[in-house]
Amino acid sequence: MEVILAKRAGFCFGVRRATQMAFEAADRGGATYTLGPIIHSPQVVQRLENMGVKVLDDINAIDSGTIIIRSHGVAAWELEEAVRRELDVVDATCPFVKKAQEHVKSLADEGYDVVVVGDADHPEVEGIVSYAQGNVYVVGSGAEAVNLPRMGKVGVVAQTTQSFENLKKVVFQCLLKGTEIRVFNTICDATAVRQEEAKELAQQVDCMIVIGGYNSANTRRLAQVCTELQPKTYHIETAGQVDPTWLIGVSRVGVTAGASTPKWLIDEVLDRIRQVDIDKTL
Ligand code: SF4
Repeated sequence: MEVILAKRAGFCFGVRRATQMAFEAADRGGATYTLGPIIHSPQVVQRLENMGVKVLDDINAIDSGTIIIRSHGVAAWELEEAVRRELDVVDATCPFVKKAQEHVKSLADEGYDVVVVGDADHPEVEGIVSYAQGNVYVVGSGAEAVNLPRMGKVGVVAQTTQSFENLKKVVFQCLLKGTEIRVFNTICDATAVRQEEAKELAQQVDCMIVIGGYNSANTRRLAQVCTELQPKTYHIETAGQVDPTWLIGVSRVGVTAGASTPKWLIDEVLDRIRQVDIDKTL
């Protein structure tokens, strides 16, 4: 059986960086916390917990120690509160998310109404929005943008995982609403690249295995796009979940993983698939 791993399976740049910073902080010891899970991988969060890193939801619950800021950032006031409490801050916010936060701040400071294209409930968007002092609107689609009020100067930024098509549709509506438009394309292509690769691979194999947290939106989306092209697609979190019956009659299996899936989890799944293949021939 041929096992094909997608080229860009697993950690994106921002998640790799954040995870590395978190493990380095854990190695230094002392009371160490993350605000919410550092990334959407329960296995990575568990490893960090085993090293003493606690996940908390509220900055007000910490009086001393080290606080690690996750890759998709936190609200401006949380960062300010961490500094006020004299915590040791390890800011692992992805530089691409940081850019979006900075653009929102400078647009608001220059008197622009700000439109953020994204999912209002997503922590990354909540964080980005918190950097605007004046009027800020979050819209998920061009259809939603139709309801924006008349504006003067309008600044647009996007949640990093948005599609270019969606950004274009919202910008079009903003052109109808404002007198001056400034657009910052803050989309990161890590998610789109993984989806394109997964689609190609799903069409070449008899079975697809997608690895990543069930709480990871980008992994769930990967599994969804694969299922549309290859009904024998299985979303798993760990190697132990690979069911040998999935591989009966399969000559090529494709493997991919979400942007928050570590390499060691991918390697364990690859080993397990190869072992299942050996067992089949015995
Ligand atoms: S998907 Fe892009 S923006 Fe998000 S953490 Fe990864 S590299 Fe950063």
